[in-house]
Amino acid sequence: MSSSAPPPSISTRAVAGVAMLRGFLLVAVVVAAGAVIGLFSRHAFSVAFWPANAMLVGIMLRKPSLFRRSGWVGAFVGFLAADLMFDRDLDLSAFFALANTAGTLTATIALRRLDPADLRLERAHSVLRILACLIPGCLVAALIGAVLVVVEFHGSAAQTMLTWPASELVNYLVVLPVLLTLRHPDAQPPAIAEPPLWPALALALSCVAAVQFDGPGSIMFPMPALLLCALTYPVAITAVLTMLLGTGCLVTIGLGMVAIGQDMAIPRLVLSVRIAVAFLVLVPLTISSVMAVQNALLRQLREAAEHDGLTGLLNRRAFEQRLEKRLLRRLPPGGGLALLWLDLDHFKAINDRHGHAAGDAVLRAVADTLRGVCGPGELCGRLGGEEFALLLSAPDRTTAHRVAERLRDAIATQRVDWHGATIHATASIGACHLTRMPTDTAPLLRRLDEAMYQAKRSGRNRIEWLDTPEAARAA
Ligand code: GH3
Ligand code: MG
Ligand code: MG
Repeated sequence: MSSSAPPPSISTRAVAGVAMLRGFLLVAVVVAAGAVIGLFSRHAFSVAFWPANAMLVGIMLRKPSLFRRSGWVGAFVGFLAADLMFDRDLDLSAFFALANTAGTLTATIALRRLDPADLRLERAHSVLRILACLIPGCLVAALIGAVLVVVEFHGSAAQTMLTWPASELVNYLVVLPVLLTLRHPDAQPPAIAEPPLWPALALALSCVAAVQFDGPGSIMFPMPALLLCALTYPVAITAVLTMLLGTGCLVTIGLGMVAIGQDMAIPRLVLSVRIAVAFLVLVPLTISSVMAVQNALLRQLREAAEHDGLTGLLNRRAFEQRLEKRLLRRLPPGGGLALLWLDLDHFKAINDRHGHAAGDAVLRAVADTLRGVCGPGELCGRLGGEEFALLLSAPDRTTAHRVAERLRDAIATQRVDWHGATIHATASIGACHLTRMPTDTAPLLRRLDEAMYQAKRSGRNRIEWLDTPEAARAA
């Protein structure tokens, strides 16, 4: 008996057909737009700007669902259509389209094998790995291009094998990083919330200087400012700046606005300029990636240094530092704070009866309860062992008492299931309500600790308020 799956229904096939058509059209339009920009620049400037291939590889990597036969047919049609718009004959256009499609397909296949973090330029070697994946794509396109040059134009295959890959490479390196890093949903948040503007201004000024004092070295004029930008900005912004700079170099040199003292009609010199621009953008991009790695590591280190490994709450040092900072700030009118110092009751007995791992589970459960009452701008920490502290907003004493009592009750009613046994814990709490900030926090914390021990002596599972001890019972 055959167990083959039933054939897809007509509606399923129709949906798949529409998705294929949409992919085909999207790729064809993007590629044609990029190719038109390239063909225009090829007519206008001697140093061409050809963004189509990078745009194609970029959308294939950012939208993997396009990486299918219909998408690549769309790419071929896009290249072909743009060429035909510029009055090339069909055979020639088809050959160029073939070279570009084969080159981009090779580069995309290689790039798809990289780690996604590399494609977001978030690792130290990301830019070099991307470069290594692009080179085979450039060579494949150049090989097909060389056949065309020899057969059709009786030109030099060797020269094509030098100039074509250099042109492909610079265009990839200038455009692709922007597409790979632009507002990536998985990207790390920028290390600095509001990056300063002056490194970008320094870059703009050095570009003006490069135009004013042109010559063979002018391409390197923006390098110090570019390095500063790479050290300051996240990789996505650096990628935009390198794209602007790289494109600016290709266009201004091509237009003769920056005279580098060389004849740009000589292919060998054009090749040299393209290589210079390609390698110019490699440096800041790599630095920016390394900075991203470093910032991510620093974030992880800070996280580990400030948080308790078992519960994930702030550790004692971080809690006290933030408390100190918070208490130094003036309270707004009508604002108040509740400071609670908690110690679990007879916790040693839980360890003794159920084992240390069970005690850990209780500590984690209590931490979850504390986290649950702690809102944004409030503080919650594990001071050590089975001791915790909270700083909560409480505009008045009644609210403070209500919140603290609810917390004490939540801990007392919490149950932790441990291998068939049910464990519960209670906490003794020393508390105070603050409407004015104390001049020195150390004596306040000492008195809170005393209040917590007073709560223990008074029978445990209770709150001892610093200023009016009776209020805890009344609340
Ligand atoms: P009291 O009501 O007076 O506070 O009694 P207690 O038993 O809670 O206080 P005591 O200071 O005698 O014991 C605290 C215990 O907490 C002793 C220690 O082994 C345990 N403890 C400290 N840190 C951890 C931890 O990370 N995990 C576990 N499971 N136990 C811990
Ligand atoms: Mg204790
Ligand atoms: Mg205890």
